[in-house]
Amino acid sequence: MPENTNAELIAIGTELLLGEITDTNSVYLARQLRDIGINLFLMTTVGDNLQRISTAISDALDRAEVVITTGGLGPTVDDMTRQAVADAVGAPLVFHQSLYDVIAERFRGFGSAMTANNRQQAWLPEAAILIENPVGTAPSFIVESARGVVISLPGVPREMKYLMRESVVPWLLQKYQLGVIVARTLRTAGIGESALDDQIGAELLSERNPSVGLAAHHGCVDVRITAKAANREAAQKLLDAMQARLQARIGQHIFGRDDDTLEEVVWRQLAQRGGMVHVVEAGLPGVISAGWNSANSRLNLQQYDSPVDLFAALAEDSRSMSLAELAVEIAQRSRQQMQAAASIVVLCTPDLDESPDIEQGSAVAVATEQSVRFRAYGFGARSSLAREWISRWGLANLWRQLNAERAVP
Ligand code: ATP
Ligand code: MG
Repeated sequence: MPENTNAELIAIGTELLLGEITDTNSVYLARQLRDIGINLFLMTTVGDNLQRISTAISDALDRAEVVITTGGLGPTVDDMTRQAVADAVGAPLVFHQSLYDVIAERFRGFGSAMTANNRQQAWLPEAAILIENPVGTAPSFIVESARGVVISLPGVPREMKYLMRESVVPWLLQKYQLGVIVARTLRTAGIGESALDDQIGAELLSERNPSVGLAAHHGCVDVRITAKAANREAAQKLLDAMQARLQARIGQHIFGRDDDTLEEVVWRQLAQRGGMVHVVEAGLPGVISAGWNSANSRLNLQQYDSPVDLFAALAEDSRSMSLAELAVEIAQRSRQQMQAAASIVVLCTPDLDESPDIEQGSAVAVATEQSVRFRAYGFGARSSLAREWISRWGLANLWRQLNAERAVP
């Protein structure tokens, strides 16, 4: 790890010294520190005595950068960790109205009266960073001082563990740059999230380092790989190895990495094979073509105000077609006529928003030499979903169909 960070633990409570309870908190914290690469050289146990607690903290700060205390954060007179930390770092206790309000609110929630000593808990050493405690009442905090960092956690093991895991470990990882975290996104198209999840498999998806996660965006699903290691090179190696394993399982669905867009990738595909794409947009101008430079000679664009204009141009017997059938028909026919590599047809009812009564407010079809795929939607051009959903689906399937044909020898 790039930095060598030393910590000490202080377990506070007379019960511990009387042998009435076992210090399991320090065991848990020691493991957590080990797991994130922080050195632990000394653990201390001290009773509920202000002077002795503050001396223990002060001595620990002489040796280590990070001191973690547990216990003594409650509202009673024998809970004096707050004052002891303040004394050790030489800062006064400051009243936090917002913290007081949270505590008062919690008492109201319990339906019990808040006593004066609960007010004690709203006092924290000056400049303390409050750690939210949704699982209990004892307010926990981090104090960064010139002498080092003091982190004070509650004694109740369940609360202590929760706060350590959820707040303190992430804070320490960031503060001490304990290794680096590097991520890479593999971008897929033309396959749904659950099918992709299935093909990747539970075994890969449950690995921790690198970890693999999915995020769906209409027609595209991103597969994010995250690795943690001592340095960037080591993390990249982990990413490369995981990428190779993913490639073997879902390679045919991956169109790019990180910032690659479907528009660019499809464009490159077309350029490579010397093809042209014919785009028909009726009722939703620019839905497909906006991502491309319309001056490009590989794009042949036809736009109409409404799909009705296209029905009108057809022979009498075609007028009973559904929007999806019409989109498929036009896509196949125009692709042949134009000798294009592919045709995308979007038909979208202009004045329609979303309606549960309508099955086909919009339709999109993609035809290539060997296949045609289509999709119908219940919304029209007025819907806020229309542009995003239709363009993603259209481009994802254009890529998928062109890609499948290239793969055939
Ligand atoms: P509160 O007063 O709100 O309960 P606190 O932060 O003041 O929280 P303590 O009063 O010191 O914590 O301890 C509360 C209880 O938590 C103890 O009675 C004991 O059961 C448990 N506990 C405290 N310290 C430890 C420890 N080091 N290991 C295991 N259990 C502990
Ligand atoms: Mg207590």
